[in-house]
Amino acid sequence: VEVNITPISSGNGTIAGAVVLLHDVSEWRRLERMRSEFVANVSHELRTPITAVKGFSETLLDGALEDRQTTRQFLQIIHDESERLTHLVTDLLELSKIESGHTVFHHSFADLSKLVERTVSRYIHQAEQVGLSLRAELPPGPVRACIDSDRIAQVLVNLVGNAIAYTPHGEVVVTLTETAEEAVLTVSDTGIGIPAEDLPRLFERFYRVDKARARRSGGTGLGLSIVKHIVEGHHGHVTVESQVGAGSTFRVFLPKQAAEAEEAGE
Ligand code: ADP
Repeated sequence: VEVNITPISSGNGTIAGAVVLLHDVSEWRRLERMRSEFVANVSHELRTPITAVKGFSETLLDGALEDRQTTRQFLQIIHDESERLTHLVTDLLELSKIESGHTVFHHSFADLSKLVERTVSRYIHQAEQVGLSLRAELPPGPVRACIDSDRIAQVLVNLVGNAIAYTPHGEVVVTLTETAEEAVLTVSDTGIGIPAEDLPRLFERFYRVDKARARRSGGTGLGLSIVKHIVEGHHGHVTVESQVGAGSTFRVFLPKQAAEAEEAGE
């Protein structure tokens, strides 16, 4: 609590009383702490790739350039780290736009089956390269919902990308189902899984179960946080179930109400 005391003078030099203001600053302190933690996280995340780019380019300039193989190897690292920086900055901008409420969602009717198919074909090659099977399980007809297609595509990309990154072998399946009110997107994998104690914090910015592994996988620690914001922007919700060593299942529930209203009007 912050205390503010202002004396009230009686006019003849004596003090007649005082105004005491008590401010409850705990919420303000909490927000302030979150903000500075965020800045510290961002700085740390930016510094890691920058240090690598600087270090490896300096070594090249200092003479390693003479060796062709080393040059190639170091340039590859510099390239990968620059990619990571780009990825990080893109995710940060995206997140800050969504969190500030400045993101306008462009809702329109779309077939979620098509969106799933597109995401799967985008990742199929990458999955095959690491020996994973990636497939979609779709209902026979279209699943129409009123969504911002680009954003929901991003949700799928983030979830499928993670599933591939954290699954050493086995399969990743994207399933689409629907009820009268909702469309449900499920991304399940047979990967490393997530310990129960980490699940409650999983959707927080920069939260990672295994920092070293997540970095190697090229992650920014922002993917799931973006997923949550986008889904909540659609008045939906996202859940996760996981078992260490067995795999994880992420489910995205999206209301279709608007689609129903349109169909009723048709
Ligand atoms: P990152 O960019 O690090 O993948 P995310 O926000 O997308 O960040 O995910 C946060 C953390 O959640 C990851 O670092 C990882 O520890 C864990 N995680 C996410 N998806 C999976 C998954 N399918 N299997 C196992 N762990 C996962």
